[in-house]
Amino acid sequence: MIVKNGLVAFSGEDEFLSKDLRIQNGRIVAIGRNLESGTTDEVLDASDCRVLPGAVDPHVHFYDPGYTEKEDFAHGSAAAASGGVTTVIDMPCTSLPPVTDTASLHNKLAAVSPKSHIDFGFFGGVSRQLFDAGCRVAMASIADQVMGFKVYAVSGMEEVWGALDHWRFHKVLELAGELGSIVLLHAEDAEYVVNASQALQKTCNDPEAWYRARPELAEVMAVQNALRIASEAGGNLHIVHIGTAEAARMLKNPLPEGCRVSGETCPQYLAFTTDDFIAQGAVLKIAPPIKKEGNRDELWSLLKDGTIEFVASDHAPGTAQEKSGNDIWKNSAGIAGTGTILPYLFSEGYFAGRLPLSRLLEVVSEAAAKRYGFFNRKGSIEVGKDADLVLINTNENWTVRGSDFFSKGKLSPFEGRIFTGRVEKTLVRGRVVYDRRRGALEPGWGEFIRPARSV
Ligand SMILES: [Zn+2]
Repeated sequence: MIVKNGLVAFSGEDEFLSKDLRIQNGRIVAIGRNLESGTTDEVLDASDCRVLPGAVDPHVHFYDPGYTEKEDFAHGSAAAASGGVTTVIDMPCTSLPPVTDTASLHNKLAAVSPKSHIDFGFFGGVSRQLFDAGCRVAMASIADQVMGFKVYAVSGMEEVWGALDHWRFHKVLELAGELGSIVLLHAEDAEYVVNASQALQKTCNDPEAWYRARPELAEVMAVQNALRIASEAGGNLHIVHIGTAEAARMLKNPLPEGCRVSGETCPQYLAFTTDDFIAQGAVLKIAPPIKKEGNRDELWSLLKDGTIEFVASDHAPGTAQEKSGNDIWKNSAGIAGTGTILPYLFSEGYFAGRLPLSRLLEVVSEAAAKRYGFFNRKGSIEVGKDADLVLINTNENWTVRGSDFFSKGKLSPFEGRIFTGRVEKTLVRGRVVYDRRRGALEPGWGEFIRPARSV
């Protein structure tokens, strides 16, 4: 196949270049101007389109197997493909059984492989319960299969998937370090959040109460402690979904040699404030919650300067029922975001002038592929790499409509927003998996991706 007449985005470049791409056996084999097409070549005309490397969404909850009334891999990966995402990494503890060892990993792999439209990796995880039962053997059994191990400083599922206190977190960082892997942390201070939630639940049930139980301070304290513990452990730590500018700024702090810390944010923290949460209610209920005005601008600048390494959707839709009702404590937390992450960042990041093109490419694709060890195959448009591509038509503005989503989740905080640049086609390893006119096309085409780092 040859992708012709497009304007192509290359790693490190701030201008699109007029190039053709030749694809063979799923990989990019040649890049040049006016590549000759042979009689057997299929030509994909990318006129009017910008051609970007497929986005990596490195933090999703597709709930499969186990909670498929909320989402499943077929719907979640189709939603991702419709938004130009070609690789997702799925979280361990929102599927049943959670991914903690070889048996649970293979169980999930068998369940989701026939369904996935796009390539996918998994995170493993360590709960307090697993830690107390002895987690070393379980972690070692999957360390080379998973992109890292997710842990919680405070958990919404305490009975089945408990949070780690400081000591257990310290030990897990050391263990993951021995295994050459990464620990991912949901960073909100447990003592603050648990006590504030118990007290506030007695008197209020409005969105602001959810925010007041987990304000900026709760995230700042958790990140501060995590950084201190990671320094002590010489750990390799990634902090997920940071919404507080002060917490993200701490990632600039110097670290001891051998210690590595990174962080991600999400479109919802870049786009919204507590005022939006109060107006939208349960649709915008997430954990950690949306923060006050004053965080967004600095998050954008910390994203631009590389302090925040990349962006993830934290896709986690709830059913319409879970997202309705007037008690904010009872509404489920999470939004359907994997289909809008790239459109949002392309329109409001690159097109609006907040991110240069080269940085856009890093935050949507390159940086996560590097961090999790699969940049050898993905994350940029280069000869030898997988032909994971997204074609975006920049002549078109479009309006976000949740009812059009491929996800099971039809509610979006971006409902009614107008974005510049429409995803026309998404290719995974040279195969069109999404076409704007034909929909999501290739369930089962997605392959399981392992980290290439040496474990
Ligand atoms: Zn999450």
